[in-house]
Amino acid sequence: MNIEYADRLKRLPPYLFEEIDRAKQLAIAEGRPVIDLGVGDPDLPAPDFIIRKLNEASRDPSVHRYALNKGLRTLREAMADWYRSRFNVDLDPDTEVLPLIGSKEGISHIPLAFINPGDVVLTPDPGYPPYNSGAIFAGAEVHVMPLLEKNGFLPVLEDIDSDVAERCRIMHINYPNNPTGAVCDSGFYSRLVEFAQRHGIMVCSDAAYTEISFDDFKPLSFLQTKGAKDTGIEFHSLSKTFNMTGWRVGMAVGNADILAGLAKVKANIDSGIFTAIQIASIEALQNAEKVVAGMRKTYKERRDILIKGLDAAGWAVPCPAATFYIWAPVFGKYDSTGLARAALEKADIVVTPGNGFGEFGEGYVRMALTVDTGRIEEAVRRIRKAFFS
Ligand SMILES: *Cc1c(COP(=O)(O)O)cnc(C)c1O
Repeated sequence: MNIEYADRLKRLPPYLFEEIDRAKQLAIAEGRPVIDLGVGDPDLPAPDFIIRKLNEASRDPSVHRYALNKGLRTLREAMADWYRSRFNVDLDPDTEVLPLIGSKEGISHIPLAFINPGDVVLTPDPGYPPYNSGAIFAGAEVHVMPLLEKNGFLPVLEDIDSDVAERCRIMHINYPNNPTGAVCDSGFYSRLVEFAQRHGIMVCSDAAYTEISFDDFKPLSFLQTKGAKDTGIEFHSLSKTFNMTGWRVGMAVGNADILAGLAKVKANIDSGIFTAIQIASIEALQNAEKVVAGMRKTYKERRDILIKGLDAAGWAVPCPAATFYIWAPVFGKYDSTGLARAALEKADIVVTPGNGFGEFGEGYVRMALTVDTGRIEEAVRRIRKAFFS
């Protein structure tokens, strides 16, 4: 039988990381000493006290059954409490907090609740791929908002075509930003709320990286903006904050009507987060401050070694105020793919070609600070030797 994919799968943008993935696997198989700066996944484990709580909770026979779809009330309360203490944002745990099986789950499902044929979803380019794929699965027309260096990697709202803005139902934004490492201020969020209200757009803010910031910079929540809760929701996640990417716990918070739509989709697709993981997540959220201080110190140390080392070698790369990503402009004759290929061939270093995040990511490679300082120092030495000597 000839197995044909559905049109929606054929409409997905090409997966441009395939070549680098394959080359990396080959290099590892050949026994080469690969340093992988490609993965946006913390190398450190979840803190021990969270793991202990999971162990303890999983021994209770009652947690092994299907979880409640909307999550334990105590988890929703812990999420609301964390938003209040961290951002001074008030949320009703019953209507304004929805636990997710990782924020990617909610990001990719939200268009199913609100998109009809002909509706537009606006996504940042470069950007996190699920913004586009979720929209495509729901049958949306996807329009991108270029994130350019000259605009601080913020979308220029005035540049959005008025017909597109009128047909737009969902706009994804993401600060601190993956892959650019850019951050935004309250003025941007205010302009965004005004724009969204004017055009009847639901804003979906992805705040996965608000806890990974440096040098006293405190990223904001979109929901701190006046009027934000009327027009949007925010996705957050325990993944990056607590080194819990594999556990799959995230949340959507904000506008109750938008969350009710997402909850309705989810009730037909999943059956919640394993209850023991929810209980351990409460423990994590209640102790967030003591975890994140150490994490910030670790990434800052790595960031500084990499930025200073590359600068000394002759590669000037902007220093991010948040996230664990370095968004480095390519140099010489290289484009994104060419530099990623050469880094692996000449230096056994994996970096991510920027064009894999969208056409406006061309001209950059992304390096993740998810390896220890010793390996970052070694990566700098190899880059200097391979490209700058
Ligand atoms: C890592 C990441 C997330 C978190 O995804 P989870 O599904 O919660 O693990 C969300 N958005 C962006 C941009 C990310 O890089």
